[in-house]
Amino acid sequence: MSSQWIYLDDKFVRKEEAVVSVFDHGLLYGDGVFEGIRAYDGNIFKLDEHLDRLYQSAQSIMLQIPYTKEEMQQIIVGTIRHNELNSAYIRVVISRGPGNLGLDPANCTNPSVIVIAEELALFPKELYQRGLRMGSVATRRNRPDVLSPQVKSLNYLNNVLVKLEANQAGVDEALMLNDQGYVTEGSADNIFIVKNGKIITPPVYLGALEGITRNAIIEIAREFDYDMQEEPFTRHDVYTADEVFLTGTAVEVIAVVDVDGRTISDGKPGKVTNHLLAEFRRVVQTDGVKCYPANVNAV
Ligand code: PMP
Repeated sequence: MSSQWIYLDDKFVRKEEAVVSVFDHGLLYGDGVFEGIRAYDGNIFKLDEHLDRLYQSAQSIMLQIPYTKEEMQQIIVGTIRHNELNSAYIRVVISRGPGNLGLDPANCTNPSVIVIAEELALFPKELYQRGLRMGSVATRRNRPDVLSPQVKSLNYLNNVLVKLEANQAGVDEALMLNDQGYVTEGSADNIFIVKNGKIITPPVYLGALEGITRNAIIEIAREFDYDMQEEPFTRHDVYTADEVFLTGTAVEVIAVVDVDGRTISDGKPGKVTNHLLAEFRRVVQTDGVKCYPANVNAV
């Protein structure tokens, strides 16, 4: 790409000029919300669902996004077109905006709106063939009554800390438990287990983000008549599962073949995981908002 165009506060600017104030409370306090979205061949997968989650996160922290959802959709589509992208990762950030050094959001009157879209190299095929190694970490998932995992806020330290723990342990991803020891999710992905033909993912109230990929997989699993359940489970259930996999915008659907040193089944991605990944890759092409030809308005 010659030079990237970033949408920042009402206009497109070159990457080099896309700067925000050091007094922005997104930087000073992690005060803001974001979304990670993906476009496949010009189709922005589940854009409406991502916008719903963005506006709900904002509503929860009393942050007024200065655009309607329709306008935000046009801005996002516009960012893809402006950069002439087809397959892309899109990051939308709404921060509280510049204020003073005090944390009071009342001093911030102009939320910053940022949309970044860039070409996305797919994760290497080998990773899907090999599967990931996962390790449970000491840091617990934020309690919903402290900082709800449903708020996709700019305060991602809980997730950053567990990624550090995973790195220290030499595994690919962290398995996060809640304060009662129930499995919640990975650092940036939802977890599923398959046991005796049943597919189970934790209910989000235990402390997982309600992932859009998670919901898409639940839908696909039910469409194919799998016994798909949302139920609490523990590390023991993960260790003894027939299959374990993770879902997320970036990673799509990926097998986990080792958890805390326990090999899952034969240590290879399982049938159900591979089937769901294949079906998922089919729906991402059509389910969403098309950027080209110009059937949606864009800024
Ligand atoms: N959990 C967390 C903590 C995440 O950050 C993400 C990525 N957004 C997910 C799960 C997966 O959600 P989605 O499928 O919507 O990308």
